[in-house]
Amino acid sequence: MSVTMEKLVSLCKRRGFIFPGSEIYGGLSGTWDWGPYGVELKNNVRDLWWRMMVRERADVFGLDAAILMNSRAWEASGHVAGFSDPLVECKKCKRRFRADQIGESCPECGGALGEARQFNMMFKTNIGASEDAASISYLRPETAGGIFVNFKNVVDALHPKLPFGIAQIGKAFRNEIAPRDFIFRVRELEQMEVEYFVRPSEWKKYFDEWKNVVYRYIDAVGIEKGSVHELDVPDGERAHYSKRTIDFEFDFPFGRKELYGLAYRTDFDLSAHAAASSVDLSYLDPETNEKIVPHVIEPSFGLDRTILALLASAYREDEMGGETRTYLKFNKAVAPVKAAVFPLLKNKPDLVAKARDVYSGLKRDIPQIAWDDNGNIGKRYRRQDEIGTPHCVTVDFQTLEDDTVTLRDRDSGQQERVSVDDLAGRIG
Ligand code: ATP
Repeated sequence: MSVTMEKLVSLCKRRGFIFPGSEIYGGLSGTWDWGPYGVELKNNVRDLWWRMMVRERADVFGLDAAILMNSRAWEASGHVAGFSDPLVECKKCKRRFRADQIGESCPECGGALGEARQFNMMFKTNIGASEDAASISYLRPETAGGIFVNFKNVVDALHPKLPFGIAQIGKAFRNEIAPRDFIFRVRELEQMEVEYFVRPSEWKKYFDEWKNVVYRYIDAVGIEKGSVHELDVPDGERAHYSKRTIDFEFDFPFGRKELYGLAYRTDFDLSAHAAASSVDLSYLDPETNEKIVPHVIEPSFGLDRTILALLASAYREDEMGGETRTYLKFNKAVAPVKAAVFPLLKNKPDLVAKARDVYSGLKRDIPQIAWDDNGNIGKRYRRQDEIGTPHCVTVDFQTLEDDTVTLRDRDSGQQERVSVDDLAGRIG
């Protein structure tokens, strides 16, 4: 079903997923803060990616490089000169826009627009106590850079055979001209990227392989596959380093926009860093004894956009018990809470004690179990449905007699009696 952004933003705030950044001070454009359920959701989505891209593969190695890097790295990679968007200013109201995102006149006041100029999106900062040119550094605008500068370190330490990849997840920063659409376009974002190093002649084969991996992840995380579309980015519109790029676009509530990118970066980065640093970044093929500069296939995933596409895919409204209810149809792997345990009544000490036992028993095996005794059972179900909790477990008077509980399924609302011993198997 299609959902509006208003509904998603409101649910995320109301249920503790995502809050506007610095809200009590009037906010800070392009930043969002992740609340208790948002953090769990984000961790699950990130962990699933790491498991599929790194842990389940023998040919991809993990990395966690510093966000701050020697500014020469960003000069060599072309970001200092070219990581920019076209900026226009309205002559009347002075508001600023991305020239490629608006028409001929100002969308706010109808005023005339000035000349477009290139605006570099890297956040500049100074390292140390002095503020001269030599102390300039940048917050990384993408995680890929840290991977290329560590290429030689990984090769020397692990001696991987081509083809192989290096993966990294982390924050990146872009001084976007017009942050918008909730967590779609933010200034502080998180990326999950693999640089996959291949023999130059084999790039097409691995480009196609990684395209399939992207779809496998989309499926596993729970993004609606029918809403994902490929766009082969034409000549002239690709990033400066790319010879072929596919954008995976998603039908967001505000339109079809880029979710992920898959780029063939050739040997652009390794060659540029080798030239600028005077360090040999070639690879000695142990089979042919040939020295080559590997070419690179880069699948690039935005974690924030993953969550937004996931929320839009999971959002449901239906009728239950004569009332409209909202729920998030998360799969077990990503749901921030796997099951919530309730005592039927919170003023009956023996029920509460038994429910606490069931809760602690489950929590030992499955950490993302919640305790909920707030309000009546109906309210608790509604709350857990909106959080996307697949199961609710209610401890009632019968539990005290036969050690069974009711297990409620989020999607159907159906309840069944299940023995406490079988609960972990059903939930986990
Ligand atoms: P766009 O054209 O939407 O600005 P981009 O082509 O600049 O995106 P890439 O440089 O390819 O994006 O970045 C890789 C991925 O990082 C994107 O596919 C997206 O998922 C994510 N991403 C990029 N910029 C942002 C942002 N400002 N906020 C949230 N995610 C982002």
